[in-house]
Amino acid sequence: MEKVAIDDVETGGMGDADVRRLADPLGTSDVAVNHYTLDPGERFSGGLHTHMDQEEVFYVLSGTATFETPASESDAERASGDAAGDDEVAVDAGELIRFAPGEYQSGKNDGDEVVRALALGAPKESEDVRVPETCRDCGHENMRFIPGDDGFTLVCPECGTEVDA
Ligand SMILES: [Zn+2]
Repeated sequence: MEKVAIDDVETGGMGDADVRRLADPLGTSDVAVNHYTLDPGERFSGGLHTHMDQEEVFYVLSGTATFETPASESDAERASGDAAGDDEVAVDAGELIRFAPGEYQSGKNDGDEVVRALALGAPKESEDVRVPETCRDCGHENMRFIPGDDGFTLVCPECGTEVDA
């Protein structure tokens, strides 16, 4: 048994958002647990992405989170530019939203109140994160996102082309 107080866990993560990574302090084996506190305008992640190898559930504890979910768009539609446009879904306190592996999503605080939310991901480790960028060499419709110490690298899962950013 492990018991953890969110306030006792150091904040980390990309950008200004307050992210507390709870999996390690809790010693979870199969699930990632992250607590977010987002001021108005802050985001859960850098932008639209999907985990090919992990499902994610967000439980909004306070405020209203807004998720961009172009889930109805196939990769082919995205690549051809025929998509009808991005859908946004508001998730209020007391509501949850789930994204399957391979579903693109990007969440943010578009409201006036602070958003507090718990994110659960399983399995715990995700190593195959994709962003909707087209490979310049082979035209594949997504690129694998690999975070680095200073920025990130995009790698084409089809032809292996690498782009540093
Ligand atoms: Zn490629």
